[in-house]
Amino acid sequence: DVISLAVGDPVEPTPEAVVEELCRQAHKPENHRYPTDEEKGMLAFRQAVADWYADRYSVSLDPETEALALIGSKEGCHHFALAVVDPGDIVLVTDPGYPGYRPSIWFAGGEPYSLPIRPDNGFLPRLEDIPAEIVKRATAIYLNYPNNPTGAVATRDFFKELIEFAGKNEIAICHDNPYSEIVFEGEEPLSLLSLPGAKEVAVELNSLSKPYNMAGWRIGMAVGNPQLIAAMSKMKANTDSGLFNAIQFAGITALRECRDNVEKMLSLYRRRRNLVVETLNSLGWNYQPPPGTFYLWIPTPGGMKSRDFVTMLFDKTAVVVPPGSAYGQYGEGYFRISLTVSDERLTEAMERFKNSLKI
Ligand code: PLP
Repeated sequence: DVISLAVGDPVEPTPEAVVEELCRQAHKPENHRYPTDEEKGMLAFRQAVADWYADRYSVSLDPETEALALIGSKEGCHHFALAVVDPGDIVLVTDPGYPGYRPSIWFAGGEPYSLPIRPDNGFLPRLEDIPAEIVKRATAIYLNYPNNPTGAVATRDFFKELIEFAGKNEIAICHDNPYSEIVFEGEEPLSLLSLPGAKEVAVELNSLSKPYNMAGWRIGMAVGNPQLIAAMSKMKANTDSGLFNAIQFAGITALRECRDNVEKMLSLYRRRRNLVVETLNSLGWNYQPPPGTFYLWIPTPGGMKSRDFVTMLFDKTAVVVPPGSAYGQYGEGYFRISLTVSDERLTEAMERFKNSLKI
């Protein structure tokens, strides 16, 4: 009876209003044709995205030129690389980091360069430590705060520094922000685009997967710099033909009407975090949860190698967790727990931890 705490894929259903809207729109023959505004997404969806950004992050966007519908933020990560990176370019990525970026950089012929992120700097990269010859060759940077896998959030000061660094060195920023809504006490939901100058140098990706439990629907958005949006849109127009209109209509319902789902999920994740933290601390850890995401990034006991620890954990408890080293060399010495399983399964996993682990 294996329990997987490995992936960030909410098990709770999509809000009922969203499912209803999909059904209603799916019955309309006009939605059975190729999507409206194939390469950019329906204007009504882009308008809903602009309104959501204004409401949630005080960011003003022109839905005509500064917003693009995506088949999930992962697709945006890929098209960003194809649009921006030339063969031989260096692309900066945090390490540990979301594993999706590197393959897209490789597909574009680029060369990923790891920026270590460590607890002593709040899991933020030190931009001043990047060697000058690397900065010179770099054309893009991927970041993601609230961060998968560490759960760290960015500060406004760091974002300011990043924008300045990118402007000065002509580096395009892809801020991948699908966890923007998943932050806990004392943290503000933050968009990079709310900082002055961000739109000159950055696109931000976002997603309906996590806040609205819509991972399987494949819907998200890119917003920000109009030239970058246009370049991504050109790549998309030559690759896919956009999203099913009915899904975009359902996405509008999520963005406009389902705030309560986000609040509900946050209270569930808060409860689950507490359960894991109490369990770990009762076993001898001294662990503080991170401020964002539904992941817990936890040091292995006694400095054990990540893979050795997760293998031992699996052998003793039949609970699957990813080793930190799967997210990059600087993830060594950690493992990650995702809180997107049911309360019942998480409770069972924690019972097994209590019965089998003592550090
Ligand atoms: N970016 C990050 C950092 C993620 O953690 C994930 C999914 O876990 C994605 C992108 C993919 O999200 P989407 O479902 O919007 O494609």
